[in-house]
Amino acid sequence: MDNLVNELVEDNTESVSQSLGLYGYHCNDCGTNFLSKTENNNICGYCGSNNVTELNANINNCSVIPFNKKIEEAKEDYRKHTRFNPLIPFSLKSKKYLNNMKKIYYLTYIVDASISGNIEYLATDKNKKVVQEYNVSYDTSFDYTKCLININKKISKREFFNTFKCSLDTLQEFRMSILEDETIILSDCTDEEIIKKIQTVLGKNSIDIVSKDINHKKHKVTNNNLNTKIDLVQPVLIPIYLMNMKYRNKEYHYLYNGVDGKVYYKYPIGIIETIIFGLLVFGIVFLLGYLISIII
Ligand SMILES: [Zn+2]
Repeated sequence: MDNLVNELVEDNTESVSQSLGLYGYHCNDCGTNFLSKTENNNICGYCGSNNVTELNANINNCSVIPFNKKIEEAKEDYRKHTRFNPLIPFSLKSKKYLNNMKKIYYLTYIVDASISGNIEYLATDKNKKVVQEYNVSYDTSFDYTKCLININKKISKREFFNTFKCSLDTLQEFRMSILEDETIILSDCTDEEIIKKIQTVLGKNSIDIVSKDINHKKHKVTNNNLNTKIDLVQPVLIPIYLMNMKYRNKEYHYLYNGVDGKVYYKYPIGIIETIIFGLLVFGIVFLLGYLISIII
């Protein structure tokens, strides 16, 4: 199993980066490995640090979902979400900050696989204080075709990556002319981790589907004997506009789907901004109370 990713992903063909002239880099601050069209690039495509060193990295047999949205649209969407929110730190709303928005291609994988085997549950019913338990066993099998699975750890927002599934129709073979000034963020997982993630994601999905058929009030899995057979692991670059925010040493993301503009975001709550907002609300309430007392 360990060699499966090597066999399926790396293949024996010449790497795209070697043949097309992409340069590899490693960020010493956030640990990201990335590719760029620019030689001597000194800006990390993920965190913006200039503490980067050259790296011998490449991508093989890669597909790409090209950008359909312009960066201006992503910036306008960010403004729309932050402009009227009084609790977001002022610093994250500045024009200068907005210029940190990054246009990236994010390396993830499309997977064909089949899962089959048996799942055992302990199911429970409780009627009139009487608890009844049942051992339930299900034989099952599923075929998964063209499943987009996010395998990078850097941005692991499952709900966001699900928005790319409908974009697989625009999938095309990677060619250099597709690239403009984007950075390609490479996977930060080992081959073993990639296989494990595929097994976990598809296994969990299969169990979720089977579990819906159980009519008992409660149930839990007691034995999972599912086997995963992976037929294809296809690397794919997906287009994202990324705003990587740091506030009080914690990381937050604003992610904009470069195909259809769907977003995922989580903003920090500013301490000073919350105090100011609290005082403002208190002041308005106090003033209104005072005015009402005068009128009455
Ligand atoms: Zn970095």
